Amino acid sequence: MIDAILVPNRGEIAVRIARACREIGIRSILGHAANDDVRFVRRFFDDAVPLKSYLDVNSVIDAARASGADAIHPGYGFLSERAELAAACEEAKIIFIGSTAESIAAMGSKAHSRHLMQRLGVPVVPGYDGDDQTNFQAEADRIGYPVLVKASAGGGGKGMKIVRERGELQPQIESARREAMKAFGDDRLLLEKYIEEPRHVEFQIFGDGRGEVVHLFERDCSIQRRHQKVVEETPAPRYSEELRQRMAQAAVAAARGVGYRNAGTVEFIVTPDGEFYFLEMNTRLQVEHPITEQVTGVDLVRAQIDVAGGKPMPWAQSELRQRGHAIEVRVYAEDPDDRFLPQSGKIALYAEPSGPGVRVDAGVAQGSEIGVSYDPMLAKLVCYAESRDACIDRVDRALRDYTILGVRTNVSWLRRVVTHEAFRDGRVSTRFLVEHEESLGRGTPEVVSAVAAVLSSAGVLAGRPGGVSPPRVTSVWDALGSWGR
Ligand code: ADP
Repeated sequence: MIDAILVPNRGEIAVRIARACREIGIRSILGHAANDDVRFVRRFFDDAVPLKSYLDVNSVIDAARASGADAIHPGYGFLSERAELAAACEEAKIIFIGSTAESIAAMGSKAHSRHLMQRLGVPVVPGYDGDDQTNFQAEADRIGYPVLVKASAGGGGKGMKIVRERGELQPQIESARREAMKAFGDDRLLLEKYIEEPRHVEFQIFGDGRGEVVHLFERDCSIQRRHQKVVEETPAPRYSEELRQRMAQAAVAAARGVGYRNAGTVEFIVTPDGEFYFLEMNTRLQVEHPITEQVTGVDLVRAQIDVAGGKPMPWAQSELRQRGHAIEVRVYAEDPDDRFLPQSGKIALYAEPSGPGVRVDAGVAQGSEIGVSYDPMLAKLVCYAESRDACIDRVDRALRDYTILGVRTNVSWLRRVVTHEAFRDGRVSTRFLVEHEESLGRGTPEVVSAVAAVLSSAGVLAGRPGGVSPPRVTSVWDALGSWGR
């Protein structure tokens, strides 16, 4: 059994794990970097210890020892997919709440995981993933254009290049190599056939490390900006039960084939004709795990902790049901009016939506400082309803109720994404945001700017409503933030 868990992470995921610890009755310790505003996150933890950085394995192990933690939950990002941390935990006799160092290493290489999947009979995107790194030209010609160049060690869309014609291949290979070297210290590449207008559909899986694996259904994460997910939902719209079943079986086969332990995700790319191919497997908790929790009623973090502590698998496949519909939108401090540039500053006013079927997993509160050193995701808004249509209405309503003043956010832009006619129809693909760029418009609806101008010229925004000190505003836009949009 686990007594105390160190969470060397930040923001909403640190809070999420701390909440599970409190519910189980396990002591929680936050491991945090010095340059991070952790005042809000800290409240949810029993203790806190400083780390040199969220990426320093030795510092994390030392922090666990110093604080008396017998387990580490890495969350997502940072060290969560670094086999070194899992291995260092094993050596230090600390329980790593996640997969094994071997699985993490095997799945961390896109080339290696493709080889494994092919052996297990799971379809992979037609491509080239050989050791010879000199004959990409011939291989690309064989695959046929467009092709996608990928970094084998890749993640977060880094090092990924679309090549539409033969002549573009060499310069793109060079550029992908440089990016991959810089980001991952490993410049090995692979090629895949570039699939036009695909959907990204992934399966939540869970294993006990002894060969037992279940799936907790799919998540459609097709709404992406620069290969990064922005909106996720489950079930995947417009797909037949039969297709989803086949994909689920492939996901389970993939996880079972590697003796998978703990929570993981098997990602597929799906062509418009419904052909699906393995993309990669993420050996950790995903950002978008809450939508799975909403439709299945399980607590994935609690299950992770239980299984890591030696308990048996919490559910049999036949006990798992997918009910209703859930959608998550990622709320960022970024400016949709200005190329989505990350924003920094102090959150002057913060009021979250609530009400039926609304869950907010936030890492910030009023007064939080948004710095430039970390990912600008502020919170995840997760809505649940009986049907997809009702769920969209609920996300729309909740976003209207979301007030964030002081930093610009993507809240109003997200509203336009989820209320877009094509989204409503379930006509989604990874090209959605590019295809509908025009109709999605930019950050500030004109009517809001106009109202803001009138209010500010009338001096309303400088007032002191109800004795609350007004947020310091640098512009009308800041003053309105995401208020009332
Ligand atoms: P990363 O590990 O960098 O996130 P992935 O392999 O998971 O890379 O792919 C990220 C996204 O890139 C996918 O969700 C999809 O939108 C797009 N993508 C990946 N492979 C292909 C492909 N072969 N054809 C078209 N799009 C792709």
